[in-house]
Amino acid sequence: MKNIYSLEHREVRDLVQSLGYPAFQGDNLYRWLYLKRVQKFHEMTDLPSALRTYLSDHYFIGLPEVIDKVRGSDGTTKFLMELEDGERVEAVLIPEKGHTTFCISSQVGCRMGCKFCATALSGLVRNLKFHEITGQVLRLLEDVDNRVNIVFMGMGEPLDNLEEVARAIEVMSKWMGISPRRMTLSTVGLVDKLEEMLLKFPSLRVALSLNFPDDERRTQFMPINKKYSVGDLISSLRKLPIKKRERVTIEYVLMEGINDSRADAIKLGKLLRGLKVKINLIPYNENEFLPWKRPKNDRVEDFASKLREMGYSVFVRYSKGNEIKAACGQLRAQRGQGT
Ligand code: SF4
Repeated sequence: MKNIYSLEHREVRDLVQSLGYPAFQGDNLYRWLYLKRVQKFHEMTDLPSALRTYLSDHYFIGLPEVIDKVRGSDGTTKFLMELEDGERVEAVLIPEKGHTTFCISSQVGCRMGCKFCATALSGLVRNLKFHEITGQVLRLLEDVDNRVNIVFMGMGEPLDNLEEVARAIEVMSKWMGISPRRMTLSTVGLVDKLEEMLLKFPSLRVALSLNFPDDERRTQFMPINKKYSVGDLISSLRKLPIKKRERVTIEYVLMEGINDSRADAIKLGKLLRGLKVKINLIPYNENEFLPWKRPKNDRVEDFASKLREMGYSVFVRYSKGNEIKAACGQLRAQRGQGT
């Protein structure tokens, strides 16, 4: 038996055609799976009954299994999900004003090795398939009924799994009614792949996880910087095929005594001069795996106001979900161990 969700749209159309049905029945099947989210073939009432029987005999409808769910006092909820092979990923549901944000994973583990991130500790276990990415969203949708934004900011570097992430984006936009405009892809800066992704989805929002205003510290904390230096990132930001009105989000995780000085704020401001960006400052989320500390709030505010003085839109993200270890850089699902 095979998971029907593992079939791409064209494969579903080919399947129904090979069984003697018109290809549009494949569209209907996809609609039942992704839009109506029906979990039983016999409830797909506009499919011919012989087709439903064939599907039940040869396929199952398999979403990631939610094996743990922890809800914080602000409503942020962390889901631990198990995949068919027993690997586990985390996804986070964040209630916001007028909508809900889903923070989803693109890989089991990650090979980028950022020194401030708990996910990096396990290394890359494997890439997620497209249906394991959309599956997280389908699971989270079971808990909400308002508008949804998607952020690829969970476990993994999405551009290190470009093809499957692109497939997932396509399915969500074509079959689940979630426009790429409501999706944000966060990257450490795999710039060539970012350009490729934006050519496919020009309205996709982009967040660059910069975190340091110079190569020396960025290389120390983010090994990818050896390949794509700060200078490379900035010059490619200038060239990205981003829609006129859009701004790239610059993410900057503030760590006490590491990258949180006023001089760093000035350096960052100078570095970004002339770019259409907004800056998200994320005070570090402390965790038991890593030694870094969160700066005091007045130091964070000082950093933010320096950048605002320099003319930038700055948002301080006191991460939701900190108490349940669901905040940025804290996701760490381990096979067979929970979190
Ligand atoms: S911060 Fe993102 S890219 Fe870096 S190790 Fe963690 S999950 Fe990977």
